[in-house]
Amino acid sequence: MTDRNLLYLLILLLGLMATPAWAERPLVVTSTHPLALIVKEVAAEQADVQALVPADVSPHHYSMRPSERRSLAEADRIYWLGAGLEPFLQGTMSDSTLSGKARTLVGEPQGQSENDEHGHHGTGEDPHVWLSPERALAMAERARETLDQLDGVDRQAIERNHRRFEDRLHETEERIRAQLDPLQMITLFTYHDAFHYFADHFGLTIAGTLTSNPERSPSARHIAGLQQSLEEARFPCIMTETQLGGDWWRGLDVPQPLAVSRWDPIGGDTPVEVGGYTAFLESLAEAVSRCRPEQPSKDK
Ligand SMILES: [Zn+2]
Repeated sequence: MTDRNLLYLLILLLGLMATPAWAERPLVVTSTHPLALIVKEVAAEQADVQALVPADVSPHHYSMRPSERRSLAEADRIYWLGAGLEPFLQGTMSDSTLSGKARTLVGEPQGQSENDEHGHHGTGEDPHVWLSPERALAMAERARETLDQLDGVDRQAIERNHRRFEDRLHETEERIRAQLDPLQMITLFTYHDAFHYFADHFGLTIAGTLTSNPERSPSARHIAGLQQSLEEARFPCIMTETQLGGDWWRGLDVPQPLAVSRWDPIGGDTPVEVGGYTAFLESLAEAVSRCRPEQPSKDK
């Protein structure tokens, strides 16, 4: 065995020896990846946080695998958005072996919401609530109140983490505002109705959406309306998504040259770590910035 191999072996052994200390941290499982990003901001070093739905799978097309069911059983705490926003987990969460651990990060919607027309689900509320910085703050608050009840968690550290997240989120919002304010003339066209919270928060316009519900196909009339909006737009930008839709706009008669940018509503590429949620918001702002009209198209 070479010296180098010996060194690797030593590092491996040290790693294995260090594992028990790690394993003592509480395990927190969240329904989706973006919720893991939010909860991790508050939990930081106090807990391991992982998402149930894999980061490359849209929650719209999710069915649970046995290994994922096991991770729920092993969790010390489970966070989800509640049956109204995450109906695909309703059955699982009412399982009596899990109900003691499950906590809802946002309340059930109260009656008719202002986002009524955007909803995928019966409650009428747009389920992509993590894309609203205000809602993310409310979720972080809820995480702060409930994480400190877990065994082995340092309450003061949780408080500190939470404050730090609030500060960083506000700074990030200001930065994004400065970045996006000059881009208000762009009109966005999206595949599915996922981005209203983000767009509304930062004053962006979504002029058309292929489908309000990715589980259903749009009607011919809807597509004609979308086509019309595209023709009327001064600076249209087609937004594609990482998990769903692919080149959804290919069937449309689109203006040339066409600005196309991709965004990821669940932040699948963003690791679950402190700073993850704000990095995710920045990635969405970046996606919009890529549609900047004065950007020379010759360099692609
Ligand atoms: Zn969606």
